Amino acid sequence: MIEMQDVWKEYPNGTSALNGISVHIQKGEFVYVVGPSGAGKSTFIKLMYREVRPTKGHIFVNGFNIERLKDRKIPLLRRSIGVVFQDFKLLPKLTAAENVAFALEVIGLSQRQIRRRVEDVLTQVGLEDKMDMLPSQLSGGEQQRVAVARSLANNPAVIIADEPTGNLDPDTSWGIMRLFQRINDRGTTIVMATHNRDIVNSLRRRVIAIEQGIIVRDEQKGLYGYDE
Ligand code: ADP
Repeated sequence: MIEMQDVWKEYPNGTSALNGISVHIQKGEFVYVVGPSGAGKSTFIKLMYREVRPTKGHIFVNGFNIERLKDRKIPLLRRSIGVVFQDFKLLPKLTAAENVAFALEVIGLSQRQIRRRVEDVLTQVGLEDKMDMLPSQLSGGEQQRVAVARSLANNPAVIIADEPTGNLDPDTSWGIMRLFQRINDRGTTIVMATHNRDIVNSLRRRVIAIEQGIIVRDEQKGLYGYDE
């Protein structure tokens, strides 16, 4: 499902972000990626959807060989991955429904099929009554629900989330986590970088800790492990 073999990343300015990462994540797993700021978590996550390219090493995601992937095949890879960000990244001039529809790149879907899919995923996140609202008319938690719905639109095998609760209060964060749990229960792999110690310590799943670009801990049902 996701395989990294001795992956290194040095940015063009000479910063070494990852220094030899090897990891295997199976279909259906729920994985937290933890570690101090600057440890390499975002880089680790961005490599999976080829937002950044490795300097060295091998990466396979959903059957795609990331280093060999031709640029024109990147949309195919990204259709197999849903991505959720800390700052939601919704298009401000589009409604919730339009934001989700925009992500439905599946060639050959009719307008009616698109509408049905949009309604389906927005209902899954509990926003069936707010489909025509603009992001500015929604709370932070609701905006993140739209982003989760958008990530589900193409029925991806994996959802990758970079600090998805970073801008949300604790109650709202738990609402998003319940959604991820439900999505994971249906078989979708979830990889989530987080600083949310309460969530990691309460909803115990696999924990991969990265420090200074290497994996220092990889435990099933692990703990957050930092005092911050
Ligand atoms: P984290 O997500 O754990 O905070 P990052 O992956 O964002 O860590 O960053 C790892 C290291 O790489 C840090 O030293 C950071 O400053 C550096 N870095 C991240 N992105 C870039 C970039 N585009 N160019 C140069 N250095 C970067």
